[in-house]
Amino acid sequence: MRFVVTAGPTREAIDPVRFISNRSSGKMGYAIAEAALAKKHHVTLISGPAAIAPPRGATVISITTAEELYREVHRALRRCDVFVMCAAVSDYKPATPSALKLKKKKNGFALRLVPTRDILASLPKRRRYLAIGFAAETHDLKINAQKKLRAKNCDAIVANDVSGSETGMESDENEVTIFFRDGEIKKVLRAPKKIIARELVKIFEKKFEKGLTKKSW
Ligand code: C5P
Repeated sequence: MRFVVTAGPTREAIDPVRFISNRSSGKMGYAIAEAALAKKHHVTLISGPAAIAPPRGATVISITTAEELYREVHRALRRCDVFVMCAAVSDYKPATPSALKLKKKKNGFALRLVPTRDILASLPKRRRYLAIGFAAETHDLKINAQKKLRAKNCDAIVANDVSGSETGMESDENEVTIFFRDGEIKKVLRAPKKIIARELVKIFEKKFEKGLTKKSW
């Protein structure tokens, strides 16, 4: 199977030396890429700036901004069976990034932000690949994940609780609940991200194969 996995944060420029970003380490996405490679799948890993080394064997595409990620995702999806949108895309970007470094001022100032394009929501409704989204929530995990599933038209949302420091962003461990479009809910108990990733890849493989026989996910 051909996996396309996105991982890590995006950076949105304020000026040539400053940006808006988030705490995503890329660990979960890289672990999914590695687990898919271990099962002999072809993997394209589209990654924002991360401090860890990508797994050997993946076709790696580096991006910085949400707009670059949007372009590379749509290009990679031409040849894809399972799309895993694990990247922590910045939801907003500065409306007018400055070409010159902003000077320090005495007074505070407001930075106008505009939304970035929602990549998951931009996917065509009819498609031949499985599309998996992620949701990092600090509260109302189930309600928010199910809302996202519908709003972004995904086949499944992998939700994780990022309210504590032991699982989720930057951590080596995670605990996730997967909400499927058909109403099925699967929980993967707390474990290192590499173990969670193996479980997720198994679940995605099964779902993809089931979809092939039913002609839809
Ligand atoms: O809306 P929220 O950012 O919580 O949604 C999370 C999911 O949507 C993740 O799978 C993330 O990669 C994806 N996303 C996206 N484009 C954006 C923002 C988030 O595809 N601009």
